[in-house]
Amino acid sequence: DQATEDIRRNMDSLEEKSAQLHIANKEATESNRLKSQFLANISHEIRTPLNAIMGYIQILQKDQLDKQQRLYMDTIAQSTTNLLTIISDILDFSKIEAGKLSLDLTDINIRDIVDEVYQILSSANLVNASKELDLIPEFDLDVPTWVIGDPVRIRQVLTNLIGNAIKFTHEGSVRTTVKILEKSNSSLKLSFQIIDTGVGIPENKLDNLFKPFSQVDTSTTRKFGGTGLGLVITKKLVKQMGGNVEVSSEHGIGSNFRFTIVLKPSQKEQKVEDPISK
Ligand code: ADP
Repeated sequence: DQATEDIRRNMDSLEEKSAQLHIANKEATESNRLKSQFLANISHEIRTPLNAIMGYIQILQKDQLDKQQRLYMDTIAQSTTNLLTIISDILDFSKIEAGKLSLDLTDINIRDIVDEVYQILSSANLVNASKELDLIPEFDLDVPTWVIGDPVRIRQVLTNLIGNAIKFTHEGSVRTTVKILEKSNSSLKLSFQIIDTGVGIPENKLDNLFKPFSQVDTSTTRKFGGTGLGLVITKKLVKQMGGNVEVSSEHGIGSNFRFTIVLKPSQKEQKVEDPISK
């Protein structure tokens, strides 16, 4: 009858629409893959000559240079470093988007990693911005020294967050606290908090902070460079390491970025704890 015929026609049209949607989805996935592949290729092509430029700059910087030449050399070196940072951000972003970023796990000294990041960033701060900031890493006593994790990616997350905190703090302090959240025989969840007394972030900007290319100050005259990819990459890396990032901030008072990661206990730590087995 008519009703059955109508239902059959509707079913046919539904099936057709679903098939069209499937094709559109496939095309979108493929075009996303091609975009990521293109970004990865082009970043690689740009990085290779930039590394060569950087290598020769470093050789020339060791030469006898007058004041003017040294200034030029330092400016070229700084700009090259900035370009390399932008390129590796884009490369990481495209790898993450393509699901091609994997972790490289090894025994690491987590306390040394945090200290190193602080040392590098504070000497960069003194050279570039000459701000007198109190830069304080604090570990809870029960945080182990040795764990198993990906040192490159942990360093990258810390450098992004602590680097931002230093960049956007003109006076006061940038504190990082490290605590244990959960501990079992096979895993260890650590929590890191980076607390600054800087410019802070307006409440209406907080939601978009972890979206690609978002910067709070979008004016062309803004003081700080950056790709607006740092926090996106940070969030994805932290997720890959089994954790989460969140932020709270008060405009004009300061920001508080918190993240967790899951690591594995290291045999090396047990040796440190138990001197008899050394
Ligand atoms: P960028 O490379 O531009 O710094 P990020 O993704 O790391 O990109 O940060 C995005 C924006 O978030 C920054 O441009 C800045 O406006 C804001 N931001 C991040 N961290 C802080 C902070 N600690 N204090 C104030 N603003 C911050």
